[in-house]
Amino acid sequence: MKNINIHKLSAKEKKKLHTWIRALIQLIYFLFLPSVYTAAFSGVKYIFTQIGAQEKIALTSFVTVLIVICVYTVIFGRFFCGFACAFGSLGDAVHALYRYLCKKMKKKPVSIPDRWNNQLSYLKYIVTVGIIILCFLGVYQKAQGTSPWDVFSMIHAGNYKLSGYIPGLILLILIIVGMGIQERFFCRFLCPMGAIFSLLPVLPFLSLSRDREACIKGCRGCTRKCPSNIELPTAGLVEVRGDCFQCQKCIDTCPKSNVHCGIKTIKGNEIWFTILRAAILAGLMIWLGV
Ligand code: SF4
Ligand code: SF4
Ligand code: SF4
Repeated sequence: MKNINIHKLSAKEKKKLHTWIRALIQLIYFLFLPSVYTAAFSGVKYIFTQIGAQEKIALTSFVTVLIVICVYTVIFGRFFCGFACAFGSLGDAVHALYRYLCKKMKKKPVSIPDRWNNQLSYLKYIVTVGIIILCFLGVYQKAQGTSPWDVFSMIHAGNYKLSGYIPGLILLILIIVGMGIQERFFCRFLCPMGAIFSLLPVLPFLSLSRDREACIKGCRGCTRKCPSNIELPTAGLVEVRGDCFQCQKCIDTCPKSNVHCGIKTIKGNEIWFTILRAAILAGLMIWLGV
């Protein structure tokens, strides 16, 4: 079998390899660790239900997962969103399939106009506050059949007894349609966990920036490729983009290799570094019994 020397690969080959490794990590997490999202989200719901009921908040397994995933995000940015979340990966797969079908059928893909995207991204905070209020008032449990992620978890686990979950099923179908037409539709516009992650601080040395002075004049390649339409900050400025999923597409796409994280010698898309972050996260989740 031919050995692959990563250092000898062209930028295009490295990008392709990185895309495949990301897809592989997403697939492994989707198949074997699909419950991290629901566990962390259950932690959020539990905390606000307990506060509303004026009950003690215990360190349940859900709360522990929530704390660990938040600390991980503060250190590594939203790597969980970019590489490990089952719901995010479902969105990537649905969007890729939609684009592929449009290409095959020679149809122009439908998409949400850019000018609406930024406004729509505030919707996730409204959804989150709504859910928190419902938990606080103790009525969220009664609205259980409306939860699209509960339906997703049931289907993923092979449980198709969905008669009490019709509103949630309809919402899930609508979300999947949205995932098709807009990359990371659910993550950008609706996800309560995404809203929480976007407000967390990230250690500056692992947030992404670009050396603006070295950019190609007029280039917006990284922003155009970004599923969150992010204008990366200039290197040296301590600015964190909360909506950055750490998908690393901007790093892969830059023709000048100009996007990097705060550690000067590390770009952020090195294969070993990607695998290391995925392995640390998997180790933590397995240790917590997710
Ligand atoms: S934003 Fe939400 S659904 Fe999207 S990857 Fe992050 S946690 Fe998952
Ligand atoms: S793709 Fe690279 S060169 Fe173009 S704007 Fe982004 S960082 Fe600059
Ligand atoms: S493309 Fe870059 S800036 Fe955009 S979400 Fe992915 S890693 Fe973050």
